[in-house]
Amino acid sequence: MVGCGTGGPAAARLLAGLGHQVTVFERFADPQPVGAGIMLQPTGQRVLARLGLLDRVASGSSVVERIYALSHRQRVVMDFGYDDVEPGLHGLGVHRGLLFHALFDEIEAAGVELRLGVEVTGIERGASGCELVDAAGDRHGPFDLVVAADGARSPLRRATDLARRDTEYPWGAIWAIVDDCRGRHSNVLYQHYRGTRVTFGLLPTGAAADGRPRVSLYWSVENRRVADLRRRGLDAFKAEIRGLTSEGDEVLDQITDADQLVHAAYRDVVMRRLHSGDRLVFVGDAAHAMSSQLGQGANLVLLDAAALADAIQARPDLASALASYQAARRAHVRFYRWMSRMMTPLFQSNLVFLGPPRDLLLEPVSRPRPVRRFMVELLAGRVLADGFRVRRPPTGGRGRRS
Ligand SMILES: Cc1cc2nc3c(=O)[nH]c(=O)nc-3n(C[C@H](O)[C@H](O)[C@H](O)COP(=O)(O)OP(=O)(O)OC[C@H]3O[C@@H](n4cnc5c(N)ncnc54)[C@H](O)[C@@H]3O)c2cc1C
Repeated sequence: MVGCGTGGPAAARLLAGLGHQVTVFERFADPQPVGAGIMLQPTGQRVLARLGLLDRVASGSSVVERIYALSHRQRVVMDFGYDDVEPGLHGLGVHRGLLFHALFDEIEAAGVELRLGVEVTGIERGASGCELVDAAGDRHGPFDLVVAADGARSPLRRATDLARRDTEYPWGAIWAIVDDCRGRHSNVLYQHYRGTRVTFGLLPTGAAADGRPRVSLYWSVENRRVADLRRRGLDAFKAEIRGLTSEGDEVLDQITDADQLVHAAYRDVVMRRLHSGDRLVFVGDAAHAMSSQLGQGANLVLLDAAALADAIQARPDLASALASYQAARRAHVRFYRWMSRMMTPLFQSNLVFLGPPRDLLLEPVSRPRPVRRFMVELLAGRVLADGFRVRRPPTGGRGRRS
């Protein structure tokens, strides 16, 4: 397994649970999650339940029941409740650190071998398996199978000719995580837009160790503007947000140092196939990085990990297992990649003419029940996700949690 982010440890745990001997390589000696909060959708929650981790993650996270978005003219642009589709359905606003540590503890307890501080730079195939080559020139292996979970800038993807598209998306986001002092932002993912160039968002993100609720702030930004934004200083940044909404005032008061703001950019990756022969397979952002507009990336990689483990368990040989994994994930990944590409310009682009019709039409168009259901299913990550079979947590691995 190359990469110990979200997909790497999830796939490692599931495969170790099937009795496979798994080694995880991670370039950082002390891997830490970057960024602030993420939305864990019902799809991702199902995989965490299978790993026996849902209770731990949910207990430190915020239940998100609704998405509410306004235009700069205070017009409602989106107002969806997950329970429009199913009572009890919800998202979880999760601190990345919580998800990461839950997964990391699980692979340590399962006896997965960890090789931290090893930056994998290449792969070499031989008759008896694959060897990994690291930045120091050392070789590791041979391994029967290499799972590339090395993220959006995957060096292993670049070592193949499988990418049909691999570009930086021109927009990203600036994130910060702070206290939600008066618990004002619980249960709702709140967004506020000015045309297609400006999005301000607040995502409830669970509670700190001392019980104080937290909220993640995000501000959409064109990547080439980030240096300028930093040069203009924190007060100018806050003034831009305050000019749009007063909803973030208490949150902004807690941002006193520009280092509290983290810039994250997205990539747009399309691969011809999710595997190269029967020795190398891709999961998560390495396989299908996309903009975070639909908040699906971490959920997609959890589904990939589960589908890969299912395919390896069900198929007698790696060639047919990897073909089966690819078949199981193709429609779902393709659909979300396509929707993400269609929808991102409506919220993050210089196509300013798209802003007014979005503000006028999105809410009334999504009022009829079938459209509303579709929008919520889309958000929940469940459209075309049926190939994913939910099963009990794996047996046979050490450290299994029930
Ligand atoms: C601003 C932003 C907001 C987002 N919001 C959401 C959201 O709300 N909901 C959601 O589901 N998703 C969201 N995502 C997407 C989500 O974060 C990713 O899709 C998800 O983390 C991908 O997981 P991964 O395991 O594929 O890759 P990563 O989590 O990126 O892990 C890759 C790992 O591989 C390691 N690595 C890289 N190269 C090497 C190498 N050469 N050798 C060894 N190790 C290596 C890295 O250090 C890293 O630990 C968001 C992303 C961004 C940028």
